[in-house]
Amino acid sequence: MTDFTSKTDADGVAVITWDTQGKSMNVMNQQGFEDLDRLVGEALDDDAVKGIVITSGKEGSFAGGMDLNIIAKMKDSAGDNPAKGLFEGVMDMHGVLRRIERAGMDDKNKGGKPIAAALPGTALGIGLEIPLACHRIFCADNPKAKIGLPEILVGIFPGAGGTTRLVRKMGAMAASPLLLEGKLNDPKKAKMAGVIDEVVDDPLAAAKEWVLSSPSIVKPWDEKGYKMPGGAPYHPAGFMTFVGASAMVNGKTQGVYPAAKALLSAVYEGAMVPFDTAIKIEARWFTNVLMNPSSSNMIRSLFINKEALEKGAVRPDVPDQKVQKVGVIGAGMMGAGIALVSALAGIEVVLIDNSQEAADKGKSYTTDYMDKGIARKKATPEKKDQVLGLITATTDYAALEGCDLIVEAVFEDVGVKAEVTEKVQAVVGPDCIFATNTSTLPITELAKASNNEEQFIGIHFFSPVDKMMLVEIIKGKGTGDRAVAKALDYVREIRKTPIVVNDARFFYANRCIIPYINEGIRMVKEGVAPALIENAAKLVGMPLGPLQLVDETSIDLGVKIAKATKAAMGDAYPDGAVDEVLFWMADEGRLGRKSNSGFYEYDEKGKRTQLWTGLGDKYPVSDEQPDVTEVQNRLLFAQVLEAVRAIEEDVLMDIREGDVGAILGWGFAPWSGGPLSWLDMVGTPWAAETTNALAEKYGERFKAPALLEDMAAKNQQFYGRFDPAKAA
Ligand code: NAD
Repeated sequence: MTDFTSKTDADGVAVITWDTQGKSMNVMNQQGFEDLDRLVGEALDDDAVKGIVITSGKEGSFAGGMDLNIIAKMKDSAGDNPAKGLFEGVMDMHGVLRRIERAGMDDKNKGGKPIAAALPGTALGIGLEIPLACHRIFCADNPKAKIGLPEILVGIFPGAGGTTRLVRKMGAMAASPLLLEGKLNDPKKAKMAGVIDEVVDDPLAAAKEWVLSSPSIVKPWDEKGYKMPGGAPYHPAGFMTFVGASAMVNGKTQGVYPAAKALLSAVYEGAMVPFDTAIKIEARWFTNVLMNPSSSNMIRSLFINKEALEKGAVRPDVPDQKVQKVGVIGAGMMGAGIALVSALAGIEVVLIDNSQEAADKGKSYTTDYMDKGIARKKATPEKKDQVLGLITATTDYAALEGCDLIVEAVFEDVGVKAEVTEKVQAVVGPDCIFATNTSTLPITELAKASNNEEQFIGIHFFSPVDKMMLVEIIKGKGTGDRAVAKALDYVREIRKTPIVVNDARFFYANRCIIPYINEGIRMVKEGVAPALIENAAKLVGMPLGPLQLVDETSIDLGVKIAKATKAAMGDAYPDGAVDEVLFWMADEGRLGRKSNSGFYEYDEKGKRTQLWTGLGDKYPVSDEQPDVTEVQNRLLFAQVLEAVRAIEEDVLMDIREGDVGAILGWGFAPWSGGPLSWLDMVGTPWAAETTNALAEKYGERFKAPALLEDMAAKNQQFYGRFDPAKAA
């Protein structure tokens, strides 16, 4: 059964319907292109056909895009000369779309048949690139639909003519948020922006009517004397756009995202030549991106594996555990956010704190969130009432009766948590799963306060709860499968991405972030220029330098964690040098953003202004500064070695979780696909050699773990040795 079918109606309109078998939304694959090409060709050759409409058999959507699984594997299946094979494959795709666009016209633009796209709704990626090749785009007035080219978000760019056509249709300046940020619009906004042409009640009827109206079908860029809207690069206005875009892209990406650079080059170079040459240039740059391991790693982590984890790749085989009523204990910063995301997912919430005032304050976080949504026209007063109606703020534990999940977010104190666990157990039913949101306390230890360790688990949210997409689920020694399934089903309901890890100090994310921060602070003490530390981190794709990160999370929290870790580890505690700086900062009252002073200076409105100049008085900057690459290696290895140790210690059970968790949890250089993908990219032999050299210079913490040594000796890759499908 093919995904494309064609039927010609009594008026002579051939309606080609796209309906991917077995999927709720259309996705494109190699066969699909061939079928579309054949059907368009047949309709163009058929004298009974006056015009063609391409539409979708799916309600509310045209297409979700290219099958990214195929893109990820394109390089491997492109033969001995992958760049050549890829380029030719991409040019074949262009051929199909160009044949639609030319629709049988001769080179004097004579003849041909009109081809319109009728979109029932959402049109993304190739799902918009095909319509862009048609002569007119009609879309249903469907406010939930999303129209756009989000390729850049997974490390590629629109490579089926979308880049070249959009820039020629709208101009480089107007197209830039759509191409460079992957911005999506609803149909009305997409029409206003000039991406699509018409928003109508019945796109199929309107498209049919249009193709029968003998419209002009020559694209502006196929007309003589075509001028690009806003000006091509050699035009004074266009020049400004391109200079600005180049600076902006480098500012935003620090030059580490190959797709953004390649996109810009395709647009710039393509703007100076005729359309068919521009398409070839686009294909060359697209090939260049596909050849770069960064793009396949990003697709693998940010799309394929992220989705697999969200769909339950590591879920135990236990019946559905959908949450009906959740009790959130502690209505502080975390509890308030957890109540919000739960209620937004339609789950009934009981939000408990020690005083009614504190509980109400926690609930008011949801009120404020919904009010902001209403102001931005993202929510309605009815929706606000509905969401708030789901949250009961109280001090009365009896209200927890009927809860099937508890998420505890009280103070980080074993005694307080134990007391709460016991109080909860006195009211909830025997099947209720109890989760703690602790960030540092061992789950197995906390589970001791529970009367059923099997039903005790860690559900670790990141702050701010409503913005951070990762949730770390931690299994204690006694945690049973139903608790894991419950946690995973809950995370799915609130539409976040889960990773499941075993219990160990700092679980997974924090065990990697803390050494990153510590390495930055250690360098301050050594006399490395703070600006070098921060910029080196950003230039390698970390969203925040280590010093900015500790300012954001607060320096006193760092002190608290350091003291607790030291108490637990005793003589084995390795971070005395870091503590000297950290404790001194805390003594000075420089607690980070929350005190408007830390490693950075802030103005009275709390805006970060510059690195704190006083830091140099205490820790003078040395005359000799290290190479930026050495600083980057220290900062990266501080994190990736922990990821390797987490595998060694069986904290991470699936390497996909190590990569996805790192990008979503703390923004680990997304261009790399995550710490384990990065190690595969640089090669384990190089990684082991480099980190061992760092160990000689800077200390044992950099010594390659045994697993890395072993893999280096065998020249193995993480995605080779730890086949995620088998590990899952
Ligand atoms: P918070 O101090 O803002 O809130 C804690 C709340 O718990 C307070 O409102 C307090 O009144 C309430 N509380 C204390 N004892 C209680 C009791 N016996 N019964 C009911 N309520 C009680 O703290 P937070 O930042 O929201 O952190 C809460 C938990 O989440 C901690 O375990 C923390 O480690 C963890 N966590 C925090 C973050 C973060 O970034 N802040 C991130 C992940 C996890």
